[in-house]
Formats: sequence, C-alpha cells, structure tokens
Amino acid sequence: MPPHNAPHTDQSSVTVLGLGPMGRALAAAFLAAGVRTTVWNRTPGRDGELVRQGAISAATPEEAVSASPLTVVCVVDYDASDAVLHRAPVTAALKGRTVANLSADTPDRARSTARWAAEHGIRYLDGAIMTPTTTIGTPHGVFLFSGDAALHEEHRPVLEALGGTHTHLGEDAGRAAGYDIALLDIFWTAMTGYLHALALAGAEGITARELAPFAQGIGAILPAIFESSAAETDDGTYSGADNPITSAASTMAHIVHASEAHGIDASVMRAAEGLVRRVVEEGHGADGPTRIVELLGRR
Ligand code: NDP
Repeated sequence: MPPHNAPHTDQSSVTVLGLGPMGRALAAAFLAAGVRTTVWNRTPGRDGELVRQGAISAATPEEAVSASPLTVVCVVDYDASDAVLHRAPVTAALKGRTVANLSADTPDRARSTARWAAEHGIRYLDGAIMTPTTTIGTPHGVFLFSGDAALHEEHRPVLEALGGTHTHLGEDAGRAAGYDIALLDIFWTAMTGYLHALALAGAEGITARELAPFAQGIGAILPAIFESSAAETDDGTYSGADNPITSAASTMAHIVHASEAHGIDASVMRAAEGLVRRVVEEGHGADGPTRIVELLGRR
C-alpha cells in the first residue's frame, strides 16, 4: 500500500466507502470491469461477497482511501459522509486525492462539502445516482456529476466502469444535487399519488392489479406533458387554452370528496388543490397548470 499522500499514478483503482445496497452495487461494477477496488464500511461484514469477487477489504477508512487516487463515497447522506471523511486520519490521507461523493443530500450540503474539501487540499466531485441498484454496471444507470470538469474528465475512465450515462452538469458542486432533488420531487410526489390512487381504487372495489394497466397509461402521457410544460415555464406563457386550471380544480375536488367519503386521508390532494385554488383566486383561472410554477417560484 502506498504511504499517505504519496503521488498517485494508478488510474485504474478505486476505493468505495459505504457498502449499503448502492455502495455494494458500485463496488461490484468496478470489480466486474477489472478496476482494482478497495472497500470499507462502518459496520464490518458487509464486504464478504465483494471480497470473493476480488475486492480488497480495508480495516479502516484511512487505509481504504490511501489505496486509490479516487474514493467514491456512497452512504445514506452527508451527515454520514462527514462522519467518515472529517475524521483527522481520513482527511489527512485524502490530501491530493479525489473524492466523488455519490451520496444523496441537498445542494447546500454538496457545496459546503466542496468547500471543506478545498480547504483540506482534497480534489472533489459531487454526484448523484438517478437509477436503482439493478441498473449499476448496465447501460441503464444514470449518473450526474458537478464540480471541476477537468477532474471529472480525469476520472471518467474509472467512473464509466459503472456503466450507463455520465453527465457533467457544471462547475457548481451543488448542481448535481439540484437535479437530484428536483427529480426525486417528481418521483416521490408521483409515487405518493399512485399509492393514494391504489387505496382509493381499493375502496371502490378495484384491485391494484386491475388499475395498474390504466395507471401505466397515465404514466405514458406524462413525457409529452413534461416537455410542453417545460417550454411554457421557461417562456412564461402558462397557456390554458386546452386545459384551464379551473378544470383541474374541479377534478381535484372530486378526488378529495371521494377519498374522504371513504375515510381516506386526502391531505396530499388537498395540498395540490390548495395551490390550484390560489391561482384561480388570483384571477389566473384561464391559465394552464404551469401557472403553479410561477406561484411557487415567487420570493
Ligand atoms: P442507505 O441510504 O441506507 O445507506 C447505507 C449506507 O450508509 C451504509 O453503508 C451505512 O453504513 C452508511 N451509513 C449510514 N450512516 C452512517 C454513518 N453515520 N457513518 C458511516 N456510514 C454510515 O443505502 P444505499 O446504499 O441504498 O444508498 C446509499 C446512497 O445512494 C443514498 O444516498 C441513496 O439515496 C443513494 N441512492 C440509492 C439508490 C438505491 O436504489 N438504493 C438509488 C439512487 C441513489 P452501515 O452499514 O454501517 O449502517
């Protein structure tokens, strides 16, 4: 093992800190691509299968980060990554090396971590993984990065061992996390809507399996709506010619009433209906639903 802070020329090795489901998937993909992979996890014993696949198990995080020019961190959030990286021996061992933090958190945490890294002579990339563990090492993984573009280019050959698409979004370290939280906003509000719909359908005697093909039909109309809504939002047009928001208000009220008649919590839909009603009360009832973006975006 090279001494701490030695020059690092081995570009085909990587360290993975954090061996939850995603960290294990990342490490397995690196190994499958022939990248020398050193692993460490706070709770010991999570690396058994990886070691059988050829991973090097480090006893401490400082030993782990000393083994590679690039350390990929994938833990639950930035409190967890701070708990590992801010330990003095780890911080010292990382000097001159690169950290790519693929844990999820807020853009501000990504930026403050980038500042911390710069203060300690650590080269830093922030990143986000937008697809589940099963996509890692396949063409279907989606990886977003932000921070120093040249640094991303330097480590791209190793990072691309993870498969999928890799997009560098800009020099602001918080930008990947900005995309991440916006995209997860879509995912979790949509999932909550779907789960609520399953409960409502169930109360009407419709099984989840019966509804599912039609639910997929709703999903299938969304891509075109996302695209036209993006254009309306960026252009500030909010056209309601085909879908005035007053119509959405009426539909949402039906969903609230039907849910509550069954004793089903309708608070998510009530929140959405509340936004629509504010738009209508402001005199924009003839506009389309994208007027809500303008309402929410006011400071
Ligand atoms: P978790 O989000 O549950 O993270 C588990 C990992 O975090 C374990 O390695 C755990 O260590 C570690 N950890 C938690 N707290 C600490 C701490 N205080 N100090 C050190 N390590 C800590 O599981 P995943 O692996 O699934 O996710 C990792 C990241 O990847 C998350 O940010 C997640 O949002 C993101 N992600 C996950 C996806 C998925 O499909 N799973 C998809 C896209 C992104 P220990 O074993 O010791 O508890």
